[in-house]
Amino acid sequence: MENTPHIAILPSPGMGHLIPMAEFAKRLVEHHRISATIIIPTTGTTPPKAQLSVLESLPENIHHLFLPPVERLPENVRPEIIISFIMEGCLSSVKDALSSLKSKWKLVALVFDMFGHVSMEVSKEFNLLNFLFFPMNAMALSFTFMLPKLDEETSGEYKDLPYPVKVPGSVSFHGRELMAPVQVRTDEVYKGYLLLSKKLSLLDGIMVNSFEELEEETFRVLRGEIAGKTLVYPIGPLIQSDTNNGPDRHECLKWLDDQPSGSVLLVSFGSGGTLSVEQIHELAHGLEMSSHRFLWIVRSPSEASNASFFTGASQNDPLGFLPEGFLARTVNRGLIVPSWGPQIKILSHEATGGFLTHCGWNSTLESIVHGVPMIAWPLYAEQHMNAKVMTEALDLALRLETDENGIVRKEVIEKVVKELMDQGDEGKKIIKKLKEVKSIGMKALSNGGSSMQSLSKIALQLKK
Ligand code: UDP
Repeated sequence: MENTPHIAILPSPGMGHLIPMAEFAKRLVEHHRISATIIIPTTGTTPPKAQLSVLESLPENIHHLFLPPVERLPENVRPEIIISFIMEGCLSSVKDALSSLKSKWKLVALVFDMFGHVSMEVSKEFNLLNFLFFPMNAMALSFTFMLPKLDEETSGEYKDLPYPVKVPGSVSFHGRELMAPVQVRTDEVYKGYLLLSKKLSLLDGIMVNSFEELEEETFRVLRGEIAGKTLVYPIGPLIQSDTNNGPDRHECLKWLDDQPSGSVLLVSFGSGGTLSVEQIHELAHGLEMSSHRFLWIVRSPSEASNASFFTGASQNDPLGFLPEGFLARTVNRGLIVPSWGPQIKILSHEATGGFLTHCGWNSTLESIVHGVPMIAWPLYAEQHMNAKVMTEALDLALRLETDENGIVRKEVIEKVVKELMDQGDEGKKIIKKLKEVKSIGMKALSNGGSSMQSLSKIALQLKK
């Protein structure tokens, strides 16, 4: 049996968790004598190409294995319910996988994300350390720690609370801004998330994809008063590093090559974000009225804000839903990319000067790492909380206000896009702050930096 400590990593379905967990594994095995196996739950369909390309790009001391498919998935339910179903459904195969890994390696720990906590008991059967990989930020973790108390003290839905909810070490939120899993207290998703929050104190450690200096106060409060004995490790900003540099360069990058430096606003709503027809029209008109260059990754409209979560693709031709004549009128300064674009490459391109984002945490970190100032347009998950932290606490993004029907109107879009891209007073402020934070984030992940120190502490814990 190999004597190097080995860890099993169990990401739940969806690229948003696999990517940072794989990056975490890479850093750990690169800098410490540790190896890893990523255990991938499946649902019977062929693994998505994006998933395979991440797995195939990993170094040889990070292995991966696919679990047997979980079948008969529930239909017409929220993505979180499907993910929880898959993670429950693959428990016995996780057990088999751990048993097989244990026979080959010195298996010491299981690392899972928020949906994988159901595997904690299984991992204890093998005497493994239990680590939670928290792909959100320290604020969201602090909120998760306070959830059991909030649950006890509140009757009814949080969205009806007459007072704001103060997250320890961070800002206050209106109940309706709290993360999606806690919005309907009677449903399975809430019960699952509450259960996770109650299990936090049983964990051996939590890796947070953020960095000490970005959320200094929140990490301080987490360690001092909130997390108790559970160790909290900031290990970010981890974003996907190996994004296929093959000869088939995406057309949109060639288009960017011809645009002036810092002149283009990227508009993208993550892997699953969708807008209503009305909202798509307002956005199109707002972009047009701003007179600025833009690259918009467009999906077919949907009334549900996360309709593309599993596929990352639109079901219909998205361009048919744009306002009449929009493409022709903006042909010289706008590019529409249907469904999916190489976001990191776009953000790292010289021509990109702003990012209108749904505030998914991966997108936010990608923007910070590449020094691109943001306009926050949260849609679902914990994005409303992220947006508030980015705009109110950290000054890294400008905010778009919605009207009484929840629509962001074209005049508002025009004004905020101009503020950022023309570098008005507010725009200048966030551009300056973002530059500073970018450089601090890079330091965190360089030798001796705060996140690298966390990795060393984790390695020490694994080797004990
Ligand atoms: N992404 C991409 N192209 C797209 C849309 C998204 O490469 O057209 C990537 C993006 O770079 C990020 C991830 O998908 O790494 C989205 O993660 P995030 O946490 O921002 O949002 P989610 O998709 O989980 O809502």
